[in-house]
Formats: sequence, C-alpha cells, structure tokens
Amino acid sequence: MALTGRGLLKEALRALEAEAAGGPRAALPPELLRLSDLLRRREEQLHPREEPERELLFAMPDAAGVVARDGTIRAANARLEALSPTGRAVGMTPLQVTRAADLAEAVKRALEGHAKRVELELPAPRRVYVALAQPLLRGEVLLILEDVSEARRAEQARRDFVANASHELRTPVAAIHGAAETLLLGALQDPAAARTFVEMIARQADRLGRLTRDLLDLSRIESGQWAMQPADVEVEQALRAAGDLLAPQAREKGVELRRAPAPGMTVRADPRALEQVLVNLLDNAVKYTPRGGAVTLSAAREEERVVLSVSDTGPGIERHHLERLFERFYRADAGRSRDQGGTGVGLAIVKHLVQAQRGEVGVESGAGGSRFWVRLPAA
Ligand code: ADP
Repeated sequence: MALTGRGLLKEALRALEAEAAGGPRAALPPELLRLSDLLRRREEQLHPREEPERELLFAMPDAAGVVARDGTIRAANARLEALSPTGRAVGMTPLQVTRAADLAEAVKRALEGHAKRVELELPAPRRVYVALAQPLLRGEVLLILEDVSEARRAEQARRDFVANASHELRTPVAAIHGAAETLLLGALQDPAAARTFVEMIARQADRLGRLTRDLLDLSRIESGQWAMQPADVEVEQALRAAGDLLAPQAREKGVELRRAPAPGMTVRADPRALEQVLVNLLDNAVKYTPRGGAVTLSAAREEERVVLSVSDTGPGIERHHLERLFERFYRADAGRSRDQGGTGVGLAIVKHLVQAQRGEVGVESGAGGSRFWVRLPAA
C-alpha cells in the first residue's frame, strides 16, 4: 500500500534521525528533497546576509564551491556552475561536473583531510585549470579551479620562441665555425679558396647581426619598451624616405622601385616605427622579386584612415600560407628566405609595430605578385 503524506514524512524523519545517530545515509523520496530545496532557497532569500560563504564564493575570481561530506557540491559560484554540462553544479559531484577523474580523486583525498592540487585539462572549449581541494573545518572541502589557459599558452609561446631563436642562431654560427676551421686546416694557403671562405664568414656574420637586431627589436616591442610617440607624419615623405633606403638594394638587384604620389595625406604614427614597417615590407618585396620585376609604394585615403601599400611583381605567396605569414619565424618558402638572408621575423615586427599604433596590416597575393598593406589612422 502506498504511504500517505504523513506516513512518508514519519518514515523520512526516522531515517534521518538514524543517519544523524551514525546510521546509513537516509534515502529520501523526491518530494522531500524538493521540499528541502525549496525551504533552503526560501531561507536564503529571507536571510541573504547570513550567508557569508555564498558571498565569498561569488566574490572569487575563479570557479569555486564547497563539497559536502557526502562528496556532492553543496554551494557553487556561477563560474563553477558554468563548467557543468547541465549548467548546475550544486547537488552534483565534482566528477559529474568536470568528468575529470584526477579532480574526483583530489576531492576524495581532501575529504579525508589532505589538501590536494591538480592540473586538469577540460575539453570544448579546451581550458587548463589548476584545481585546489582544501579541507575545511567541518569536514567539507573548498574547491577552487583557477583557469591558467592563458598563462600556459604564453609559456608555450615563450618556449617555442627560445627553441626557434636558438635554431636560427645555430645555423650561421655553425657555418662560421666550419669556414674558419677549413681556413685553419689549410685553405688559408690557397688564396682563391681563402677568399671564398672569408666571404662566407662575412655573409654569415652579417646574417647573425641582422638576426640579433631583429630579435632585440621584437622583444623590445613585445615587452612594451618601445614607447610609441605618435606624431603627424606626411605619407609622401615617409614613402620617399623608405624608398631611398632601399634604392641601392633594388638597383643592385635590377628591380625597379616606383613611388605613386600621395599628395596631402598625413597619418598619425610613430615616425620611427612607420619607417621600420615600410623598410621591412620594401626589403621583402625587393628580396623576393626577381630581376626585371618592379616594386611599387602607394597610399590611398579611406575615410578616417590611410592605407599604405607595398606591391611587387614577385612570385606571390600560396593562399594557405597567408594566415600565418605574420607569425614570427613563419616562412612561406624557407629555402628562398634563407638564401636571401631572411630572419623570418620581419613581418612579425611589422605586425606588432602596426598594432601598437592602432593600425591593421594585411596581405593579398596571387600569381602576379603580392601586395602588403598597412592601415593607419589619418592625422
Ligand atoms: P623573412 O626574413 O624570411 O623574409 P618575414 O617575416 O619578413 O621573414 O617574411 C615571412 C615570409 O613571408 C618570408 O619567409 C617569405 O616566405 C614570405 N614573404 C614575405 N614578403 C614576401 C613577398 N613580398 N613576396 C613573397 N613572399 C614574401
């Protein structure tokens, strides 16, 4: 026979009293669980100020909650709730919320009285957390999940950078070493061979110099040490100055350097930074355009902005490279870049300098050549 409401209540009370006296965990019917939830919420609404714990949880910048002695989450802030597939964490176990067995184990250990710290990776969206399970006085556990994804990404980028930079530096050093050794082993006695090896040393030393200079520039820009000093810069003058710097290189290579007029245009930019941006783009254009080709500097007004372009009639860049071209050490054609003495960081410097001036940078490329552009605020 089904129990009446009163019978149900009596049974539940007996079971709860037995549990309080150390007996097994009372199994309560769903109506009573619902009732207790409603009463708890009403209590919370009536006496919100009596809940410093909730206030603390909500003030925390990380996902945080309290795990009750039975292993379920008794209180959670919005960040912890958001980690749960159902959007609710209260009443669930940490394992149900995160599906991370390591975390469940850490919480179990903390419920036994031992503070635990574990690192977890949660999928979709992939984030990395450092979780702390800290035993509290009443046998409960404070659970804090700090999102360290950004820090981990930055660490990885730093490690990649050091690895890439060392690799770049090692190559010319090894070449210089090899050439010097060959000279010492006898090539010095043969004037023609000696000249070849000394030239090789000079070329590689040059490359080392360029590399260290570029790397230092990049690090100064990234660490914010290169304080931008914006000024009104006349576009025509900036294009002329950059063109003059690259003219000897273009002449020697047999590449025609053209400059389209940009009368009356002025941009708001750090003059030194703008010069370096244009020089890096021009240097690439001259470097990658074969003899007989042409490189054009131009500018166009676009409402409140000015777009400066460096176009070439070079080999173009395959579409799938374009998205990553401005990453440091990314090369579309590694062999050609190294042959030309490229460092692989010129475009990364360009991107950083332009972004530091609230500008944008981009590239379009096809079979007829490439066009690199920089969009800056008009003065
Ligand atoms: P690098 O020192 O190798 O030139 P950059 O960062 O300046 O390094 O350029 C990255 C890569 O982009 C180059 O290695 C090259 O493959 C490609 N690239 C840049 N500019 C041009 C261009 N004008 N024409 C063809 N490829 C280019």
